[in-house]
Amino acid sequence: MGLRTQESLINVAVKHTAVTERLAINIAPAILAWFDQYGRKNLPWQQNINPYRVWLSEIMLQQTQVATVIPYFENFTTKLPTVHDLAHAEEDLVMHLWTGLGYYSRARNLHKAAKMVVNEFAGTFPCEMDDLIKLPGVGRSTAAAIRSIAFQQPAAILDGNVKRVLARLHAVDGWPGKTAVLNTLWEYAEAHAPEERPNNYSQAMMDLGATLCSRSKPACNLCPIQTDCLAFIQGNPSDYPGKKPKKVLPVKQATLLMIENNKGELLLTKRPPTGIWASLWVFPELEENNSIESFCEQEQLELIEHKQWPSFRHTFSHYHLEITPIHIKASSTATKTMEAGKQQWYHPKGDTELGLAAPIKKLIKALA
Ligand code: SF4
Repeated sequence: MGLRTQESLINVAVKHTAVTERLAINIAPAILAWFDQYGRKNLPWQQNINPYRVWLSEIMLQQTQVATVIPYFENFTTKLPTVHDLAHAEEDLVMHLWTGLGYYSRARNLHKAAKMVVNEFAGTFPCEMDDLIKLPGVGRSTAAAIRSIAFQQPAAILDGNVKRVLARLHAVDGWPGKTAVLNTLWEYAEAHAPEERPNNYSQAMMDLGATLCSRSKPACNLCPIQTDCLAFIQGNPSDYPGKKPKKVLPVKQATLLMIENNKGELLLTKRPPTGIWASLWVFPELEENNSIESFCEQEQLELIEHKQWPSFRHTFSHYHLEITPIHIKASSTATKTMEAGKQQWYHPKGDTELGLAAPIKKLIKALA
């Protein structure tokens, strides 16, 4: 065996021993004691705990801050208090209740998953991991949160906040979007999850990441696991977790027509169930080779006046959309029959409940 090979085998062995030692660290007692004193216990989804409420809150909290989620959660559970209510709700109502929260695939998946719970699990929320991860939109960490918080069964969670805590605690290098890094974090998450008080432990880890171990300037002096934290000992917590590699997103263009009739109603069309803004209501788009005049003619609208608004940018995960809105005043010649469920006149002050894409909501507000 060459000297180099021998050396790298020794390095691997040393690293493995270090990971094994780190896996044995028991952080649960300190985390739970901290939770008893400082953990959040008054959030809306921590009252009247049941699997439906835990699941809904976990989905809403993905990519969204607690303060933003609270009013949405309260409104959603007032209108649709049970999984049965959600399963039987109209799609437009579900999307309406989600309007403004973003990442609308979460709402579509919620609706599908509620139907699955009712039809395939006889209306009873499953508690086994294998069943939970069959529900659309429920990944390993969300399933574990439902299992531990709603059913008080041991399960390891690994949401964004927990990834940050564990990456710092064990000085795990690399971006957690990479499989190898994620697998290491899961290994730690599983090793640390206790048998006792799994519900409080899951909540405590999320709270620790959201409050003390924040993205910038973590409050290490108040942290219950400071003495075990490698990033703290090294003096570089903000180096963890590793950053996502930057990529330049392409830019696409869209001209949106804000057509207003003489009753103050706006013409909206419903997007297909897949693709961007799936199943949401938006302003009609002017195709590149079409003109406002011929669009109005096709839609049997009499064009009165039109004005272009300044363009603005909306960013999706894989591209930027440069939106140019055009405000059109037109009167309907009213001979055209609207295709039900695909096109409608919408009054911003009326009581029609529709799911609106975020930039559309913003534009309607600006028009008002
Ligand atoms: Fe996070 Fe600091 Fe606690 Fe380490 S000591 S887990 S970096 S808050």
